[in-house]
Amino acid sequence: MAKVLVTGGAGFLGSHLCERLVEQGNDVLCVDNYFTGGRANIAHLIGNPRFEMMRHDVTFPLYVEVDTIYNLACPASPIHYQFDPVQTTKTSVHGAINMLGLAKRVKAKILQASTSEVYGDPEIHPQPEAYWGRVNPIGLRSCYDEGKRCAETLFFDYRRQHGLRIKVVRIFNTYGPRMHPNDGRVVSNFIVQALRGDDITIYGDGSQTRSFCYVDDLIEAMIRTMNTPDDFAGPINIGNPREFTIRELAEEVIALTGSRSRLVFMPLPSDDPRQRQPDISLARTVLDWTPRIELRSGLEKTIAYFRGEMRAAAE
Ligand code: NAD
Ligand code: UDP
Repeated sequence: MAKVLVTGGAGFLGSHLCERLVEQGNDVLCVDNYFTGGRANIAHLIGNPRFEMMRHDVTFPLYVEVDTIYNLACPASPIHYQFDPVQTTKTSVHGAINMLGLAKRVKAKILQASTSEVYGDPEIHPQPEAYWGRVNPIGLRSCYDEGKRCAETLFFDYRRQHGLRIKVVRIFNTYGPRMHPNDGRVVSNFIVQALRGDDITIYGDGSQTRSFCYVDDLIEAMIRTMNTPDDFAGPINIGNPREFTIRELAEEVIALTGSRSRLVFMPLPSDDPRQRQPDISLARTVLDWTPRIELRSGLEKTIAYFRGEMRAAAE
């Protein structure tokens, strides 16, 4: 079994990844600066002899001995990554340089959690990996989008220049338990608003689309990508190709929660992509993977999680 480093391991996706890796018998070192993640996400793993937690910011070098690295550290929701945009770019770029340097020193295999944001507001639909994207380099989302694009460049240059074993996964909108209730992403926002009976805030007219992947499907694909042969580096899209408008998502959340919340329409944030759907042909072939969890059942699990959190907070 491997000695695995997960950066951003106390975040939403990172905590699910740590959990799965520990279950599979790996020794997991979780590194996080707790900017958007928290101890509560990994509390159930603390005390497990296969799990260790380290508070550390990946913009600083890290000296540990591991053989596998999953690099997830980076705030992912627009509210959080725009809070300190310079730090967001540093986290993606300096973080990638530090983790690649570590991988080079200890000869570890390293996976980068990249994003569908590298495609920007796409003119090609659905988006295949060969598409170079349409990203605004100077907008509010650029710290995240360009940071992630530069990280991909660094990964491929370390591969070409130093022969590193790399994997780059491009993650499309993923949701599930342990999303931060205030992180502003659409699924958590709508569920929390519906459960509180608050207005559901649709940005724009709600006709923009996203394709939502449940976290368990995503983690499975991420681990399968890490286990591909060394000559496979990606990039590889991971996501659920079933596409919904944001308005449809709001209506589904209202139906599943039985909420009396009203839909309200607010200005669309700048550079908000109009449509997004992954072309996952490569993942189907290379990983023999396809997402299994439908939006409805994923939302039910996520709603149950937020209900539990809100009940616990009220006690
Ligand atoms: P998250 O915000 O819940 O997790 C990010 C984690 O990284 C947090 O625990 C945070 O504290 C930590 N972190 C941030 N800056 C750090 C730093 N400088 N040093 C150490 N730790 C730091 O977000 P998430 O949804 O779990 O996303 C995880 C990764 O997946 C991110 O890299 C994100 O860009 C990528 N991703 C996620 C999605 C999605 O839909 N969830 C989509 C595309 C890409
Ligand atoms: N969105 C919305 N209401 C909200 C939060 C988000 O209508 O309360 C919209 C947002 O404008 C975008 C989509 O939902 O069109 C997805 O937003 P999110 O921040 O979850 O992810 P991203 O834009 O990064 O895909």
